[in-house]
Amino acid sequence: MTVSVVIPLYNEDENVEILHERVKETLSNLGSGYEIIYVDDGSTDQTLKKLEGIQEKDKSVVVLSLRRNFGQTAAFAAGFDFARGDVIVTMDGDLQNDPKDIPKLLEKMKDHDLVSGWRKKRKDPFFTRRLPSILANWIISRVTGVKLHDYGCSLKAYRKDVIKNLKLYGEMHRFIPAVASWYGVRLAEVETTHYPRFKGKSKYGMSRTVKVILDLITVKFLQSFSTKPLQFFGPIGLLSGALGFLISLYLTIEKIFIGKAIGGRPLLLLGVLLIIVGIQLIGMGLLGEMLVRVYHESQRKPIYVIKKVIGS
Ligand code: UDP
Ligand code: MG
Repeated sequence: MTVSVVIPLYNEDENVEILHERVKETLSNLGSGYEIIYVDDGSTDQTLKKLEGIQEKDKSVVVLSLRRNFGQTAAFAAGFDFARGDVIVTMDGDLQNDPKDIPKLLEKMKDHDLVSGWRKKRKDPFFTRRLPSILANWIISRVTGVKLHDYGCSLKAYRKDVIKNLKLYGEMHRFIPAVASWYGVRLAEVETTHYPRFKGKSKYGMSRTVKVILDLITVKFLQSFSTKPLQFFGPIGLLSGALGFLISLYLTIEKIFIGKAIGGRPLLLLGVLLIIVGIQLIGMGLLGEMLVRVYHESQRKPIYVIKKVIGS
């Protein structure tokens, strides 16, 4: 079993050298082949220079230098594309994760496809980081049905085929376990050590909460309806259309048989609105259905995942 460790770095020049020492120490004692992929996410400090120095002396290191700051998710994605190991391990490059936990994750990987770290004793400020994270983890677990204590922990391990099948967008790296659940992965959690940030600055603030909520909506939608969008938009559209139709029918009867004026009634507006919204939603669902077909058929992407074939 060979291991690729992927570490994104954005302005972490005070951390890289100690980081490499620690990662190296753990990996060289593993007894299996490994590579370390450092992804420099457009740093403006000495990070890249230091990484080049490290790579010069250590041929198990690959450095990917992104042209600009694309964000942590993109940095992970770049690392995944270049990773050659059977197992891919990700972690932060700010020394908040401990490489010593990697063997624990790899042990669990023997009978799992995805192992997630759990920073049980997390060393971040309570109100701005830990509390939002507790809420987020609870909500994400409830909504996606994939129960994890710590979605935000970067220290995770993936089987190669799980990660290579996955496409990441936006800020989605934290949702990989939820997205991957579609493939039917065996998931496990391992308690990991966490340290406060000693050097450098955190790249995130409270604004991340909003992004996480929006990403969660995307993930939930893709998880449940990505191959059948009309099943999502259709029922709401039908309901809205039917309600609008009934209201309009009622008004029409009043107008024709009773002779009441209906021109100035708010109900008329509501009826028309509901019909239009209903047609729009069903139209949107149908467009979605076409997109799904274009997506899957143009790339010959099946809508299933086979684990193994017996007797063919
Ligand atoms: N990071 C990155 N690109 C970015 C932001 C962050 O590669 O645009 C890296 C960063 O250098 C670190 C990791 O992602 O190695 C986690 O970032 P940070 O420590 O700022 O996040 P926090 O631990 O505060 O959630
Ligand atoms: Mg950090």
